[in-house]
Amino acid sequence: MTTVFMTDDNTYKPEWTPPDADDAFASRVMRGVLNDQDAITPTEPTRRRGLSVEQHVQGVLNGDRATLARTITLIESNAPAHFDKAQAVLRDLLPHTGDAVRVGITGVPGAGKSTLIEALGVQLTEAGHKVAVLAVDPTSSVTGGSILGDKTRMETLSRDPNAYIRPSPTGGMLGGVARKTRETLLVCEAAGFDVVLIETVGTGQSEITVRGMVDFFLLVLITGAGDELQGIKKGVVEIADAIVINKADGPNKIPAGAARAEYNRALHYLTPATEGWRPRAYTASALTGEGIEAIWDVITSFQAKMTASGVFQRRRQQQNREWMHALVEAQLKAFFFSNPAVKAALPEIEAAVMNGTLPATQAARDLLRVIAQDK
Ligand code: GDP
Repeated sequence: MTTVFMTDDNTYKPEWTPPDADDAFASRVMRGVLNDQDAITPTEPTRRRGLSVEQHVQGVLNGDRATLARTITLIESNAPAHFDKAQAVLRDLLPHTGDAVRVGITGVPGAGKSTLIEALGVQLTEAGHKVAVLAVDPTSSVTGGSILGDKTRMETLSRDPNAYIRPSPTGGMLGGVARKTRETLLVCEAAGFDVVLIETVGTGQSEITVRGMVDFFLLVLITGAGDELQGIKKGVVEIADAIVINKADGPNKIPAGAARAEYNRALHYLTPATEGWRPRAYTASALTGEGIEAIWDVITSFQAKMTASGVFQRRRQQQNREWMHALVEAQLKAFFFSNPAVKAALPEIEAAVMNGTLPATQAARDLLRVIAQDK
């Protein structure tokens, strides 16, 4: 056993030190492991602490991706405490929002939306843009899945430092998903993304919701899938600013061209979705990239024209106003049905309506009276 010399301050002198070493010689060693106990005082396991409002705001404004992700997670949280904090963050970020062009992209599953978003996104980042891709998927709360959840999708774009892909928020009704997507859009704008693409599956209601949060709405169609299947009858064409017949490649090129002509004829008779803008149909191939640049040209000319006419700004103002009203309605409804007096009265009134002894109008009035009296 080696002899060590204990010094006054409870450290050891090493076995060898230079002969002329004074007390300042660096290789004094602290007492090591004693009785199975480490000399280092055990500390609490490090827990990930929440960021402050200021940290969220600064991180997002600096374009820090980790903070961006955490801020979106905060917005998506269903915990009441997170809600207040998220709103405080948003309030501070709001002056830094509004500079992106917001584009909604819809189409049935398999139409090629994600292939198209990838092709367009890569072109845009190469041209110096910063692109955020968000998703609205009303089915995600049911299936637990997400339209952007599949990792093999948008592989190139997801590795691009100038792109940010956020899958659909899960949990909550479409109203909740819509709020989260809207607020995520604002956070992405504050983080410096100048193009925000919002993807949605063609199911009807989610298109209307996304139309209410974007400047430009693009409908992606394919030939031979059947009009009804593609949501044509649900009026999605009426809310589109442009239609792209995708997969116009190989043997599909000619039918795609025919479909474009047909849609252009049909569009001629429809009231445009945006005042002063005539929607047109185009063909493209997300796979070969043909026609993708032209889509972006359409979007930029739309933006220029609509900004000049004031329609662009007016639409955004209206969207904000409608959004506020939608929130008031949703919260009033929640407030009403969670009221204890309403909850107590509801089963009896419902039963009376169901068995036909109370008219529905009278029943609704009775229920509203319940809440008015419950002070
Ligand atoms: P999404 O469900 O609308 O997002 O559709 P995807 O982007 O996942 O595409 C569905 C399938 O169509 C995939 O197998 C794609 O490779 C294919 N696809 C997408 N775009 C094109 C295209 O322009 N041409 C051809 N031939 N196939 C395409």
